[in-house]
Amino acid sequence: MTSVWRTIRSAYLAAVLIGVPLAARGQGTAANGVSWPQQNVVIRGGWLFTSTGNDVIRNRGVLIVAGRLLAVDRPITPAEMVGARVIDLRDDQYVLPGIFDVHAHYNMTLGAGGVRSDEYTYNPLIFLANGVTSTFPAGEYDPEGMMAARQRIDAGEQIGPRIYNSGPYFGTARRGWNQNATSADIYRDVDEWAAKGARAFKAKGIAPQHLRALIERAHLHGLTVTAHLESGFRNTTNARDAILMGIDRVEHILGGDQLDSNKTAYPLWSMVDTSSKQFKDIVQLFVSRHVMFDPTITAPVYFSQLQDGFDYWIDERKFFTPEVQAWVKTKPARHVVASWDSLYWAMRRTTKALYDAGGQLTLGTDNPSTGEFLAGFSAHRELHTLVLTGIPTAAALKIATINGARALGVSDKLGTIEVGKLADLFVVRGNPVRDIKNTRNVQLVLKSGFVYDPKELLAQAEGKIGPSPRRDP
Ligand SMILES: [Zn+2]
Repeated sequence: MTSVWRTIRSAYLAAVLIGVPLAARGQGTAANGVSWPQQNVVIRGGWLFTSTGNDVIRNRGVLIVAGRLLAVDRPITPAEMVGARVIDLRDDQYVLPGIFDVHAHYNMTLGAGGVRSDEYTYNPLIFLANGVTSTFPAGEYDPEGMMAARQRIDAGEQIGPRIYNSGPYFGTARRGWNQNATSADIYRDVDEWAAKGARAFKAKGIAPQHLRALIERAHLHGLTVTAHLESGFRNTTNARDAILMGIDRVEHILGGDQLDSNKTAYPLWSMVDTSSKQFKDIVQLFVSRHVMFDPTITAPVYFSQLQDGFDYWIDERKFFTPEVQAWVKTKPARHVVASWDSLYWAMRRTTKALYDAGGQLTLGTDNPSTGEFLAGFSAHRELHTLVLTGIPTAAALKIATINGARALGVSDKLGTIEVGKLADLFVVRGNPVRDIKNTRNVQLVLKSGFVYDPKELLAQAEGKIGPSPRRDP
């Protein structure tokens, strides 16, 4: 990047960091190690959902210094107020920890003949504006590009959530995947992506011997593995076997002996009997081995009829380019696709059954956009759907926050509102414990103590996502 462009970019960033006059900001070092001006922040009034208890509490005061929470729920002294940016909340405003989307695809398939590819220029703004401050992309098509986007964000050159890079898919989901790879090949691959900065790995369409090698090597690097698994059919892996290999997390379906290894998994899972012994056995295996489960309940809905929660509270179609918007209008009307529809309901009941058995859940959207919905907004759809399964709202909010932080190994510094943690927060209008849909009303977002106006972030992305022949090179 040229220095002229860097200067322009810095001015642009300063303009988006709202309400903080440049001259008034003190020099500081953000918690992510980036050195740039940062003002102390005080949040007074309103309410807190800290993700440590099961209800909201009145906020007596929050103090953020250098991106970190130095005081939570105590009166802030006049001395601490000096030079600080003071945010006074109304009685109908609630502060929550930032959302973790641990299946946060940046990729999209847009336009006729569009190829699924990662969009990391404007999609980060959409995530952050929705209070999603941490994302695990769960399989990247352009891992170099995604890594560069994360580096720009970490360096303060681009605005977006934290990106915990997954690197490329391990398995047939990767274009050009070598089905005949040896363990040594897998080890080399893992070493390479660990060196490049991958924070955890995602397998999809992986053979048992490859998954075993991936888990073994990733763990030597202190990195975790999650996977989209199958029944065992055609050299795929059942979650039961993956858990015995030591996998850390599993996506979408629990698997186990209810699946027939001579048949593909998903049609069978759509009919899963949660009262069966086989189901209870696999649930018990997840619980006893502390394997986290990321249900992505809303994922099948993107291919079938719309379910409860799939309304537009902001018409997110406007963020796509006019060309993409025109293309979306040419698509056939949505209709029930029986297999996806029944999978959605199966995911709802299996998720609740795992929760009831004491299993650890996370929130993942798995929304590779096709021009109608965007994953940042869909985080609120998934959160709402967790509650539709029967999970209490406070528990769902913890799943969306602290459990995500645990899944990514960062619960010591993120995931709750507690003294000493990084100030990744969002403010909503309306009590989210009383009505989970209130998380959609995002008023303000903080990441490492930097304050963002969601409206300004969204305005930056309007009309920008997707191919456009008129786009400047
Ligand atoms: Zn996915």
